[in-house]
Amino acid sequence: MSRVAVVGGGIIGLAIAAELLRRGADVTVYDPSPDGTDGAWHVAAGMLAPGGESAFEYPHLIRLLEASNELWPAFADGLGDVGYDDAGTLGVALTADDVAESAREWKHQKLTPLTGSQLRDREPALSPRIRAGVFAPAERQVDPRKVVAALRIRLAGRVLTRRVTDLSELDEERCVVAAGCGTAALTGLPVRPVKGQMVRLRGEPGVLRHVIDGTADGRHVYLVPRADGEVVVGATQEERTDRALTAGGVHDLLRAALDLVPGLAEHEITEFTVGHRPGTPDNAPLLGHLDDSRKTVVAAGHHRNGVLLAPITARLIADLVLTGSADPLLESFEPGRFGCA
Ligand SMILES: Cc1cc2nc3c(=O)[nH]c(=O)nc-3n(C[C@H](O)[C@H](O)[C@H](O)COP(=O)(O)OP(=O)(O)OC[C@H]3O[C@@H](n4cnc5c(N)ncnc54)[C@H](O)[C@@H]3O)c2cc1C
Repeated sequence: MSRVAVVGGGIIGLAIAAELLRRGADVTVYDPSPDGTDGAWHVAAGMLAPGGESAFEYPHLIRLLEASNELWPAFADGLGDVGYDDAGTLGVALTADDVAESAREWKHQKLTPLTGSQLRDREPALSPRIRAGVFAPAERQVDPRKVVAALRIRLAGRVLTRRVTDLSELDEERCVVAAGCGTAALTGLPVRPVKGQMVRLRGEPGVLRHVIDGTADGRHVYLVPRADGEVVVGATQEERTDRALTAGGVHDLLRAALDLVPGLAEHEITEFTVGHRPGTPDNAPLLGHLDDSRKTVVAAGHHRNGVLLAPITARLIADLVLTGSADPLLESFEPGRFGCA
């Protein structure tokens, strides 16, 4: 049986470890945080959105995102109740300028434009001021906190509270570095923190049926409604390393949220959170061997899509660790592609 160390107990590290365990490996996960809540997953909204801007930014990424999206129904099924919901997303735009900005993305995704009243037929809580939008049926959501809790149960007794500072400390035969933003310090690879502020609200369940992904007077916001009445409002995207919650960040999120769904004004604010997405120079993940020794595999830099990419990452990285051969899907995501490993 192969002994494998997984460095990082976030959503990527745990998904890989659970897949390795399922395939018979003797796996140990190392993470400094006893409950793992230091990771970006604890802040993440859990949108499973393979479309959107990613296709413009990096075309190869869209194939990986779509492949992972297809794996999600079975992945969620295997974990139990993780808040998986396939009601789809409504993309909405408040003003004519917002429509003009969003139209390019909607066209690229081949989505049919809907009028304000067509949108309100689907989602009555939307503001009558909304000009236009689209329905994206392939987009889903999941609760990342429930996913991580389910994965930790699966890995009971195998997640150790320890920060790894030097990979040579590990005596397992194989090692997977899935330490999110912590990957840079361990490997020298270019993973940078991209700050995101989020607000969580709570009200009567059922106020919103779909995820809302919208723009209001140039302010972008998404609203992710959970079955229990929670609505996750996110997120800022800032090239900053601090964890400060700012008046401007929270103001912009809440203002856009209330412009799009005025009824949210009655919701209680339950949580403000700040997290850091693990970004890379092309904002696509680093997936593959760290160096020629082939002992260490990297799975990091999932930026805005780590929740969506967890199932495909787990499958492809488990293949690589256990068989040594890389799936063609991994070709574009070599960790050494920036030449600085
Ligand atoms: C505001 C916000 C909203 C987001 N929304 C979404 C979304 O809707 N959909 C989506 O798909 N993605 C979303 N993301 C992105 C997603 O959260 C990340 O891509 C994902 O969490 C990356 O997973 P990870 O396991 O690589 O890193 P993380 O979740 O950050 O976990 C990394 C883990 O590694 C551990 N670690 C670090 N250094 C070490 C070390 N030296 N030794 C041992 N352990 C170490 C940390 O303690 C942590 O537990 C969002 C992120 C943010 C910040």
